[in-house]
Amino acid sequence: MSIGNPLNRKYTYTNQSLLFFVLIFIFTLHTESQNSDKKAPNIVFIMSDDHSVSSISAYKDWLAEVAPTPNIDRIANEGMLMNTTFNTNSICGPSRAAILTGKYAHVNGFYKNEGGGDFDGNQQTFPKILQQNGYQTAVIGKWHLGTIPTGFDYSKVMINHGGQGSYNNTVYLENGRDTIREKQRHSTEQVAHDAINWIQNKRDKDKPFMLMYQFKAPHRPWTPNRKFDSLFSDKDLPYPETFNDDYSGRLAASENMLEIENHMNRKDLKLTPPSGLSKKELNKWNRLGNNGEFWTPNDSLQGEDLKKWKYQRYIKDYLRCVAGVDESVGKMLDYLKENNLEENTIIVYTSDQGFYLGEHGWFDKRWMYEPSFRMPFMIKYPNNIKPGSVNNELLLNIDFAPTLLDLAGINTPEDMQGESFKNQLLNKEYKKRNAVYYHYYEYPFWHKVQPHYGVRTNRYKLIHYYYNMDEWELFDLSEDKNEINNLYAKEGFEEITKDLKAELIQLQVKYKDDMSLDEMRKMTDTRIKRIYNSKK
Ligand code: CA
Repeated sequence: MSIGNPLNRKYTYTNQSLLFFVLIFIFTLHTESQNSDKKAPNIVFIMSDDHSVSSISAYKDWLAEVAPTPNIDRIANEGMLMNTTFNTNSICGPSRAAILTGKYAHVNGFYKNEGGGDFDGNQQTFPKILQQNGYQTAVIGKWHLGTIPTGFDYSKVMINHGGQGSYNNTVYLENGRDTIREKQRHSTEQVAHDAINWIQNKRDKDKPFMLMYQFKAPHRPWTPNRKFDSLFSDKDLPYPETFNDDYSGRLAASENMLEIENHMNRKDLKLTPPSGLSKKELNKWNRLGNNGEFWTPNDSLQGEDLKKWKYQRYIKDYLRCVAGVDESVGKMLDYLKENNLEENTIIVYTSDQGFYLGEHGWFDKRWMYEPSFRMPFMIKYPNNIKPGSVNNELLLNIDFAPTLLDLAGINTPEDMQGESFKNQLLNKEYKKRNAVYYHYYEYPFWHKVQPHYGVRTNRYKLIHYYYNMDEWELFDLSEDKNEINNLYAKEGFEEITKDLKAELIQLQVKYKDDMSLDEMRKMTDTRIKRIYNSKK
């Protein structure tokens, strides 16, 4: 064979090409068969209630050293920690509805807890979509959306106290039918127990599963499991930098009714009532403080000392509740590992919103200020998310549904307003979000927080209180992380204010929240009775 013969050369080349394509074909077949063998991931979505980032040690915030959460931190250490995840309306029901639907409150219809009616369970939610795609789904623990859960093969949700549930003697509704009062365990332990029990004994093991299990803790009235009574009992805990905020330059904040000093009641701080009171009298005695009434546990405590005493009492109980949650999360992580479920299970830890642990002198949530606007969010998915990674992009609770669907290989329906951040999790290219939009409606109950909307970028935050005032606030978070220096209408900030207002309008149009201020006020004034309690 002559090398110089072009025909021969062509023949050899064609042979090589054929071999190459055959090899590619075999490789493709092999990969496809591998993919079809690959099981859809299980999802364990753990949510607590009112758990702030400052009380999760993975965030290395001001309580991290005194109150570590080693088990929750494991999720971040083995996966990704999100630093700037926000909710779209900082109260319980609305955040939960946004998570389920991937839509803002004004679109999914559940925008207030007080006088806001019940969640429309007929609408599209991500558990329903998972179910339609072969997943087995369950929800256990706090639900707080009024209507019976839909989209779940199994449900066991708290129904006493208007769906708030209680820390002890919690009443649950199982599968929308059976009422169960659990007397044996503190609610945190009960929820953890039921969650593991469902994975172990109640599910169809041939299907991938998605379990949402949701603690009442550390919600008000912060009643920990008695076994944590001695935790922190030997010391005072630190105070946040803004503990003695005077609210100057922030009119809406100055009208609040959520101060530790002035609006915590006797029940919140576990005072022992006098004996012999009727139920009505006892309720009245316990409630004293809600509306600013003065009380002191003894005559010697006044002023600054009294405020500090209330704070210590509050923060310790709150963190004891967190310790219970942390312990329960550890049990789940251990269970999944010991039962060979770790590798193919995505685990999320989050809370429906943040909470004030003395920042601005407050407890509770609602505001677009960072402590209540931020949500903890961490996620692990072995062999997919790099352990110990940190995400600093702007994310929202409406993104959770599209992201979890995306991770399960399911397309996001077009009407979901959130966006999948799967590519960020998998370290692939993604589109950056410039700003996030927020809207809170509930007023005056509870805590007299003015309805407001606003926009936050990586550096700035602009808030508008529009209900019965016309007040704007502008903060430069890079200079003023505690948001105490309102720069609105200050010299030198005209351009940035103009840009942020343009961004705000753009987001209102994008999310279909561009109604008139009168229409927005009407949403606050509309009272829709909850039907839930009358049904059960
Ligand atoms: Ca909550």
